[in-house]
Amino acid sequence: MNSYDVAVIGSGPGGYVSAIRCAQLGMRVAIIEKYATMGGTCLNVGCIPSKALLDSSHHFEDAVKHFDTHGIELPGEVKVNLDKMMQRKQGVVDQTTVGIDFLMKKNKIDTYQGVGTFKDATHIQIDGEIAIEIEAKHTIIATGSKPTKLPFVKVDKERIITSTEALKLTEIPKHLIIIGGGVIGLELGQVYKRLGAEVTVIEYMDRIIPTMDKSLSKELNKVLKKQKFKINTSHKVTSVTRDVDAILVKAENKKGEVVSFEGDYCLVSVGRSAYTAGLNAEAAGVQINERGQVEVNAHLQTTAKNIYAIGDVIKGAMLAHKAEEEGVFVAETIAGQKPHINYNLIPGVVYTWPEVASVGKTEEALESAGIAYKSGQFPMRALGRSRASMDLDGFVKILADAKTDEILGVHMIGARCADLIAEAVVAMEFRASAEDISRMSHAHPTFTEAIKEAALAATQDRALHI
Ligand code: FAD
Ligand code: NAD
Repeated sequence: MNSYDVAVIGSGPGGYVSAIRCAQLGMRVAIIEKYATMGGTCLNVGCIPSKALLDSSHHFEDAVKHFDTHGIELPGEVKVNLDKMMQRKQGVVDQTTVGIDFLMKKNKIDTYQGVGTFKDATHIQIDGEIAIEIEAKHTIIATGSKPTKLPFVKVDKERIITSTEALKLTEIPKHLIIIGGGVIGLELGQVYKRLGAEVTVIEYMDRIIPTMDKSLSKELNKVLKKQKFKINTSHKVTSVTRDVDAILVKAENKKGEVVSFEGDYCLVSVGRSAYTAGLNAEAAGVQINERGQVEVNAHLQTTAKNIYAIGDVIKGAMLAHKAEEEGVFVAETIAGQKPHINYNLIPGVVYTWPEVASVGKTEEALESAGIAYKSGQFPMRALGRSRASMDLDGFVKILADAKTDEILGVHMIGARCADLIAEAVVAMEFRASAEDISRMSHAHPTFTEAIKEAALAATQDRALHI
């Protein structure tokens, strides 16, 4: 029987990164993946394909709406070739997943294709093209998540779809109805809106992206409405029915009235749930909690001492970079090191345009914790860089401790905020004050100047350019 120091079940960003780190630390490692390609949700049906489509649709929108203003004339009408767009996306996915195969080989990690099932705490049965049993001193569960279902909605994967199908549609919907105004709904909604679909979002809470700072929800809502999104907050969906190619969604509004929406596709994006099917966790003594997640302690150790769990399958934000941090953390823990993760400083990003990004505490969280804070905000439209690229929407907001000036939260919406947020993460990791940032040189003209200006506004209410 093949014996390993560590077996990793699941090859998403949590699993493959933990496998690499274990190998770097001198362990003999196996990774088990049930699908034919490595990379999990993120690389196959998540982060990478969605960003590829966001980029393609952004180019299309620029060509249709903005080229003329820039003085670029096209010989004829600009058209979408959806087949080609999807092929490019798939090419990006294929290159990326093959890259993981390369990394596994480079690090001498044995890969097994098949469903990994615990026989006991140290033995795993793998059922794939061939059936094989392996032995592992330690196992890392990184089995990820699946789209959450609404009990009264039958997802038929043709017209009533999840993100997985939305990433490979063969036609542009005429009217896409999206249940859930969270990250997936808004990112994929924007893809199809740019390509010409009418898009209606139905959100249960009183604002879109409800877990982020309220000011971001408000600004994004404003911008999406300008882009002709139809957004219905405080609406509880009660039924979704299909009649051939027509979809009827019924929801209850704040007043208790029934509102109907008719479209040709319905995307259900109401969150994701931990995935443990087929794992036979109980045979290994691994406890699953009432939310279906693998229960872990502060060391990400499960109720079985030699088994750890990371990523979407445990509590916390369902983000690729969170899964990666946990993968490294567990590998180093197994190697006897004392690693650390600062969960407060895991940034969250929505890749709409303008991009939305956030790290640390929201104003709502500071208020409810009774922490005295000051806030400095700077609008993107006041930047020279924004005017040059015509990306005028959005702002940067810095929240700092009222007494010490330590930065407690940074919330931004605007062009390239997905990248800008890294400055805030670094600053907060070093426990910088708003004044520290305000005294650092930021290249001109860049979008980063909004961070410096927001820091000036937070420290001494003395932004320079408003
Ligand atoms: P996963 O990536 O889900 O991987 C788990 C793997 O385990 C899967 O490949 C699965 O097949 C395998 N598996 C499960 N059970 C078994 C078993 N018993 N045996 C063998 N293999 C098994 N996050 C971001 O940070 N940024 C983004 O831009 C972003 N965009 C997203 C867009 C979409 C449309 C979606 C759906 C998600 C997005 N996410 C994004 C979330 C991100 O994909 C997840 O947080 C991340 O993939 C979680 O990684 P993971 O390693 O925990 O699990
Ligand atoms: P989400 O939690 O971001 O949003 C789901 C939304 O659906 C919420 O706003 C919620 O209030 C709403 N909702 C729930 N039940 C509803 C109902 N019955 N009717 C109407 N609205 C309802 O989840 P998601 O957008 O499905 O994404 C799943 C996960 O994938 C997220 O945790 C996210 O972190 C991750 N993801 C991340 C990125 C990124 O980092 N850019 C992109 C896509 C997905």
